[in-house]
Amino acid sequence: MEKDKIHKKCLCNEPPGSERLIELMLDNEATEDQNKLIQVALNSCPKCLQNYQTEIALRHQLKTSMANNRLPEHVIQAIRHKIRETAQ
Ligand SMILES: [Zn+2]
Repeated sequence: MEKDKIHKKCLCNEPPGSERLIELMLDNEATEDQNKLIQVALNSCPKCLQNYQTEIALRHQLKTSMANNRLPEHVIQAIRHKIRETAQ
């Protein structure tokens, strides 16, 4: 029964926007209550843990690639601009 309670509160069971809680936590913008909710979810749900780890890996990869390339801001912006042009 306890597990069912936790499961209903689970981040991955919530409507879209639930993963933003994880983002809030990684940005150190989550409230104490939100942090508790996230900790419970991470400890009880493999799916939430996976979401969390994916988010961390993504952020780490982004940071590392940016640090390794040492691209100046204007180059990054030019690339972003190009991507946007290609997407249209
Ligand atoms: Zn979950």
